[in-house]
Amino acid sequence: MNTSYATSVNDTIPNNILMYHRFDEIKYPSTNIRKEQLVSHLTYLKDQGFKFILVKDLLFPDKLQEKSISITIDDAYLSFYEVGLPVFEKFKVPITLFLNTENIGGQNYMSWGQLKDALNRGVDIQNHTHSHSSLPTLNELEIVNEIEKSQKLILENLGITPNLFAYPFGENSSTAQKIVSQYFDAAFGQHSGAFSINQKYFIPRFPLNENYGSIDRIKDASSVLPFKNVEIQPRNPYQIKPITRYVLDFQEDASNINCFISDFQGSFNQTSTNLNSKLLIELNRLPVKGRLRFNCTKVNNGIFWFGYQYLIN
Ligand SMILES: [Zn+2]
Repeated sequence: MNTSYATSVNDTIPNNILMYHRFDEIKYPSTNIRKEQLVSHLTYLKDQGFKFILVKDLLFPDKLQEKSISITIDDAYLSFYEVGLPVFEKFKVPITLFLNTENIGGQNYMSWGQLKDALNRGVDIQNHTHSHSSLPTLNELEIVNEIEKSQKLILENLGITPNLFAYPFGENSSTAQKIVSQYFDAAFGQHSGAFSINQKYFIPRFPLNENYGSIDRIKDASSVLPFKNVEIQPRNPYQIKPITRYVLDFQEDASNINCFISDFQGSFNQTSTNLNSKLLIELNRLPVKGRLRFNCTKVNNGIFWFGYQYLIN
């Protein structure tokens, strides 16, 4: 018998997040989106009836009663200001910009004056560290300094105090999450996955770029749904010693859930053992240094998508 999965209105309504970096900078296809691609994305989302909301609204469940999309931009490249922002304004899409403060005013980066103008035009400006270092490589004091320095510069130059944070490269650790949680209400990664409030300090976002910028990608990114609450072991997204065994607890029958796992060397063959709500996964080789990604999906009146990213040292 097909039992209903939905326990609340949020389980059947997607409220996902997209992420862009550069606009019309064709030298950087892995972080760039061409203007005509962006226009096609926004046209599709508008035609499908998505409501555009700021990511900060995702923290309030009463704002999630209809399908929505939140668009975030990282790094404050000049091409966002010159090419991206006018397109978003034309489509009346509110934008959240995650800002790393050290590069401001540098070549191809926005200046404080341009940031002030963007703020006045309704862009929600949030924190993305000072130096854009990968946080797991820093000690606790260095992480605190990254946050406090950037918060201070943003307050001095723009008169605001960000309450949201995006990890550089989406990379973090349990330690980094703990420190970030003392300053911010939520924090965002760079891994694909449906939005869920259950991992408030490692929220997925769908990266869109020239290589992954098709309308099919937008269709998936905008429509996938979150699993109820997934526990992944190990939970620390930073692994000093690579391992091959992982446990995912989906808190529902996991027999029809498939996980695609990959690192810089490619995708893994894996042995998955299903024990009720759990998947015990054994990779066929050790992950290599760098990012290790889990993408687990289930098709059942919609596609459910759980994503997770580790950094292997
Ligand atoms: Zn960044």
